[in-house]
Amino acid sequence: MNEQAWQNFINAVRPKLSATTKLTEREVLAPKTTMRVGGPARVYAEPAGETDLQVLLATAHARGLPVLMLGRGSNLLVPDSGVDGLVLNFAHPDWQKFELQSDGRIWAGAGLRLKNLCGLATKAGLVGFEFLEGIPASVGGALRMNAGAMGGWMFDVVDEVHLMTLTGEKRVLKRAAMHVDYRYCGELREAVALGAFLRSSAQADTQDIRRQIDVYQKKRLESQPREPSAGCIFKNPPNCSAGKLIDECGLKGERVGDAEVSPVHANFIVNRGAATCADIIALIRRVRARVKGARGVDLEPEVLLFGQNWKDLL
Ligand SMILES: Cc1cc2nc3c(=O)[nH]c(=O)nc-3n(C[C@H](O)[C@H](O)[C@H](O)COP(=O)(O)OP(=O)(O)OC[C@H]3O[C@@H](n4cnc5c(N)ncnc54)[C@H](O)[C@@H]3O)c2cc1C
Repeated sequence: MNEQAWQNFINAVRPKLSATTKLTEREVLAPKTTMRVGGPARVYAEPAGETDLQVLLATAHARGLPVLMLGRGSNLLVPDSGVDGLVLNFAHPDWQKFELQSDGRIWAGAGLRLKNLCGLATKAGLVGFEFLEGIPASVGGALRMNAGAMGGWMFDVVDEVHLMTLTGEKRVLKRAAMHVDYRYCGELREAVALGAFLRSSAQADTQDIRRQIDVYQKKRLESQPREPSAGCIFKNPPNCSAGKLIDECGLKGERVGDAEVSPVHANFIVNRGAATCADIIALIRRVRARVKGARGVDLEPEVLLFGQNWKDLL
């Protein structure tokens, strides 16, 4: 986009936003992701609530400016050149609510960390959220990705999602009306999740729930690397584990610069310190080529390339 278009956008929205909405230019995104790579966002905003979000979305839409939603950045690679768009993030406390309703449901704001969701549900004796512990995500990112672990999926606990379209209209969707699948939620590909009403499957003693969480935590600690990563790089092909395929091709420890196929878990690429996004993409290409050559399988990235499409690069 041209410079003038961004300046005009900033001049148009700034007077309409509340004082607590953060609006910056060229905010570096690497520290806001778990992989810790990538350049700046042309414009970056942390809206203080729905009204300010609506102003930002509607104005960007009317001017044809691209908008990208950043959760906790745990499933993203930000290109080294950054993102020529408006990047929105729900760091403001207004998005981090956990509210127990009189009908037993929980309102979870899209900016709430899954760790806090699990902790607060456990304290309240609510069963069903244990599998989410250890996924370093926000509720919004977990809804968009239908994050899953230990045999459970985010949408297992969803009753209703509240979202805003890119034109700034609010919608409420029941779970049954939504199209969800493995790491996929159709309705959130082009919309922003504001939060969701979640349902617990049962009530139990806090200590019993904690014991189950401890089992899951131990499993993760034993099977996942500690270095910065973006979780699993590739989706599991049908009836097959991507990590096992990569391991069987002898790729554990393979490196491009400081990007390395984790020796602990072959479906994780870790940042050994100074990796760039370009290093990681080069390593992804190499892993795909080796697996395709040896086993005939096309691995599809699970991790997203922020503001770009894998099909243009792989
Ligand atoms: C150590 C580690 C372990 C992991 N383990 C797991 C695991 O067990 N299971 C699993 O499924 N994933 C796992 N992941 C990957 C990641 O945590 C999930 O994909 C998670 O759902 C991403 O959430 P996020 O908030 O970080 O979203 P981001 O990575 O910031 O964004 C992911 C996508 O969601 C979109 N998005 C974010 N917020 C919203 C919103 N409010 N509305 C609409 N779209 C939004 C973004 O635009 C982007 O398209 C792991 C990652 C790491 C680093």
